[in-house]
Amino acid sequence: MSNGKKALVCGAGGFIGGHLVKRLKSEGYWVRGVDIKMHEFCETEADDFIQGDLRDPVLCGKIVQDGINEVYQLAADMGGAGFVFTGEHDADIMHNSAMLNLNMVHASAKAGVEKIFYSSSACIYPERNQMEPDNPVLSEDSAYPAAPDSEYGWEKLFSERLYFSFQKNYGIKVKVARFHNIFGEVGTWEGGREKAPAAMCRKVAETPDGGEIEMWGDGKQTRSFLHVAECLDGVRKFMDSDLAGPYNIGSDEMVTINQLAEMAMDIAGKKITIKHIEGPLGVRGRNSDNRLIQKELGWAPSKPLRYGMERTYNWIAEQVKNAG
Ligand code: NAD
Repeated sequence: MSNGKKALVCGAGGFIGGHLVKRLKSEGYWVRGVDIKMHEFCETEADDFIQGDLRDPVLCGKIVQDGINEVYQLAADMGGAGFVFTGEHDADIMHNSAMLNLNMVHASAKAGVEKIFYSSSACIYPERNQMEPDNPVLSEDSAYPAAPDSEYGWEKLFSERLYFSFQKNYGIKVKVARFHNIFGEVGTWEGGREKAPAAMCRKVAETPDGGEIEMWGDGKQTRSFLHVAECLDGVRKFMDSDLAGPYNIGSDEMVTINQLAEMAMDIAGKKITIKHIEGPLGVRGRNSDNRLIQKELGWAPSKPLRYGMERTYNWIAEQVKNAG
C-alpha cells in the first residue's frame, strides 16, 4: 500500500542503501535509487533506478525533482580498513565524497525537499579517545576538538557541518547519524572493501575444519557491530522525528576481533587457528555510545551480535560455495 511519500536513496547500489530501498518499499514509499553502479548482489526494488555519478551537479539537480519528500544520502567513496587506513585512497575519498555531499545538499535545498538524512561515521571521533581497547569515549559531544584518525573521518566531519549549515541558512530539515560498523548479508564480502564481520565469515567459510586463517594485528582491538536491519530501524525512527542529531547509531556490545572470529567459527561448527599478521588496523578500541539517542529518540539495538552474525555467515557461506 502506498503511503503517498517519495524517497530518494543515494548510494542505492551499495550495502546499506540496497537494504534501505527494500525497507522503504515495504513501508509504502515510492523510491528512486541512484548509484554509480548497479547493486552487485540483488535486483533493485526501487521504482526508478538511475545509474549516474553524484559528483555531477546537473544529475543531482534532476534526481531531486518530481516531488521527492525525503532524501537519504548514503553515497560515499569508502571501504573497510584495507581501503580507508592505508592512505593510498585519501585524495579520492576526500574529493569524491565531499563533491557529492556538496551537490546533494545544495540540490535538495533548492528543490524544496523536506528532509535529508546524512550518514556520517564513528570515524569522526578523536583518535586520542580510542587508544585503549576497554574504555573508548564516543559520546556525541566528544567530537571536538576534532582529531579523526583518517581523511575519511575528516570528510565526514566537514560534511556534517555542511548539512547543518544548510539547515540553518536554507531551512531544509537535516538528520545526521554517525554509523558504527554496520554489517549484514547481501553486502561486500571479498575484494578488499569488506568489513571485519564479512571478512571473518568469508575466511571461516573458505577454511576447512582444523585449518588456519590470517588476521591483521593481535586481534585484541575492540569494536562493536550493528546488523543492518537494526540500523535501518534507527534511521527510520530518526527520520520520522523532529530531531536533527548528530546521533550515534551502533551497537554497544563490544567484542575483540578475536572474539568476532571465534563467533564465526562457532556458527560454522569449525575449529580454526588464527595466525596474526601485520596489517592496517585503525584505532585500538571503539564502541557505540547510545545514551543520547536512547534518551532523546528512544532507540537502541534490540538483538545480540550473534543474531546478525548467523544471518551474515549463512549468506557468505552460500556465496563461497557458489564461487567455488
Ligand atoms: P557502500 O560502499 O556499500 O555504499 C556506498 C555507495 O555509494 C556505493 O554503492 C557506491 O557505488 C556509491 N557511490 C560512491 N561514489 C559515488 C558517486 N560518485 N556517484 C554515485 N554513487 C556513488 O557503503 P555502505 O556500507 O552501504 O555505507 C553507506 C554510507 O554509510 C556511507 O556514506 C558510509 O560512509 C556510511 N557508513 C557506513 C558504515 C558501515 O559500517 N557500513 C559505517 C559508518 C558510516
